[in-house]
Amino acid sequence: RTEVARAALERLVVDVPDFPEPGVVFKDITPLLADHDGLTAVVAALAEAGRDGDGTPVVDKVVGMEARGFILAAPVALALGAGFVPVRKAGKLPREAHAVSYALEYAEATLELHRDAIAPGERVLLVDDVLATGGTVRATRELVAACGGTPVGVSVLMELGFLAGREVVGDLPVHSIAVI
Ligand code: AMP
Repeated sequence: RTEVARAALERLVVDVPDFPEPGVVFKDITPLLADHDGLTAVVAALAEAGRDGDGTPVVDKVVGMEARGFILAAPVALALGAGFVPVRKAGKLPREAHAVSYALEYAEATLELHRDAIAPGERVLLVDDVLATGGTVRATRELVAACGGTPVGVSVLMELGFLAGREVVGDLPVHSIAVI
């Protein structure tokens, strides 16, 4: 399953140099999303992180981080028989939310999660497109914990290995279809 998904990533993700700023190679997944077979393959592979050894789903909620995490996490939630929950940038959620701020290279970012989106004790899978420095996943993990939920893993399409985001994430298992 992972092999098919990895081949789809190689074929359909476009590297865009110097976007959104010089020195960054942006991984554009829009051609992958537009390809039915490619999208099917990566959603199935991402969902594997939410199953036990027998293939039985073990998560109650799948959290997707704004913005590309939303697109991937919703079909993963359906595949696992779980609900989908968005983690949003500051000021977007309409009701009471937990907030966590973290440092970016030159600024600070804040992510938010509705307080009632995850019930205490629920098991949660985190889904995003790219794991880079790990700051986004670490903040999301804190938000889930603030609700009383239990993060069980992180599932991403691509992990930028040279940034060592996995270490920032901590002891949460990281499943990446491809390490780049
Ligand atoms: P980080 O918090 O540094 O791990 O960054 C992860 C977030 O930034 C994810 O939500 C990604 O969508 C986005 N991101 C970081 N680096 C890239 C990249 N090279 N290409 C596309 N998205 C990226």
